[in-house]
Amino acid sequence: MDTKRPIAMLALAVTCLLATGSQAAEPGPHMLVKLPYAYNALEPYIDRLTVEIHHDKHHRAYVANLNRALEGATAYSAMPVEELLRHLDRLPEGTRTGVRNNAGGVANHAIYWRCMGPGMGGAPTGEMAGAIDVAFGSFGKFKELFTAAALGRFGSGWAWLVDDHGTLEIVTTPNQDSPISDGKTPLLVVDVWEHAYYLKYQNRRADYVAAWWHLVNWDEVGRRLKAARPPAQ
Ligand code: MN
Repeated sequence: MDTKRPIAMLALAVTCLLATGSQAAEPGPHMLVKLPYAYNALEPYIDRLTVEIHHDKHHRAYVANLNRALEGATAYSAMPVEELLRHLDRLPEGTRTGVRNNAGGVANHAIYWRCMGPGMGGAPTGEMAGAIDVAFGSFGKFKELFTAAALGRFGSGWAWLVDDHGTLEIVTTPNQDSPISDGKTPLLVVDVWEHAYYLKYQNRRADYVAAWWHLVNWDEVGRRLKAARPPAQ
């Protein structure tokens, strides 16, 4: 028997694996969303390299791992991530944790990117401003409470403004958990995993969160609120 053959095949398999990993397109069904702006658009608050690695490596890995996790549950593979997160209990036990972590990673990052933009920040207006005043007293108070939640989240996770059936709330989630799994609608989110800020801010999460307020896309947050609370028929 030619002993070189298995080694050559192994080398080929490794080459193919590496090639697949570096491909731009995902095999699907879940795909990496495009960044809605250039990598450097969030500077000086979030640097180009952080955005590039965060989107192209971290976010992409959640997409790839979700697709992989769903290979064991093909009946669910075409389900939108929000549906998967809403009905984690329906998933087969063997795939539930993989889907929880990775569908969360896919959905949470998509909201995070959309809720930021260059030349944004400031205070919300219109209905969004009114809803915040009703729930928290004032925008200043909301900002204070949201910042405290983001800084108080131990370890890796997220701080959120959510709509809970007509009531605005600030919540945090660990790891890649989503408030969608608790029946809540995400409106605004900040990623407080170290990968979101470590290159520029090192351990200074407070400086990152303070900078992040300059990027909040309040039009997007307001749009999400409108979608969560459709006008009565
Ligand atoms: Mn992240």
